[in-house]
Amino acid sequence: MAVERTLSIIKPDAVQKNAVGAILGRFEAAGLRVVASKMLHLSQEDAGGFYAVHKARPFYGELCAFMSSGPVLVSVLEGEGAILKNRDLMGATNPKDSAPGTIRADFADSIDANAVHGSDSAETAAWEISYFFSQREIFSR
Ligand code: ADP
Ligand code: MG
Repeated sequence: MAVERTLSIIKPDAVQKNAVGAILGRFEAAGLRVVASKMLHLSQEDAGGFYAVHKARPFYGELCAFMSSGPVLVSVLEGEGAILKNRDLMGATNPKDSAPGTIRADFADSIDANAVHGSDSAETAAWEISYFFSQREIFSR
């Protein structure tokens, strides 16, 4: 399997819960490597640009308000099949549907405050990584 990079965001609810270390630990335990990471407090505009793909959805305003409600940890994860591996670790978008043992099953409160974001394809991963990181901020093995 190819080595990939994916963008992870630990959302404001999980940062507030003091779960940053627990969540990063799950990535590392699954063989993913944190090759870039920083804490940011997104503006509404930062969040809106990041989630522009969801602009027409009814939850877009709430999503942008939530994502800018407190600091987040944005990271680049690297490893074999990193994009799907991260999605598997995260679990379903709605924690009511998340499999036991996934990050969202264990840390998410609701479909809005659902602890983590992860890129869903190679194309979105490349775009999302470039939204937050320059090449000089990414430290490959
Ligand atoms: P995922 O984060 O699993 O890739 P989506 O890309 O579909 O999910 O949606 C982006 C984010 O928007 C979700 O993580 C969630 O926080 C929010 N969201 C999605 N669907 C809804 C909904 N029906 N109601 C409220 N918020 C939603
Ligand atoms: Mg998505």
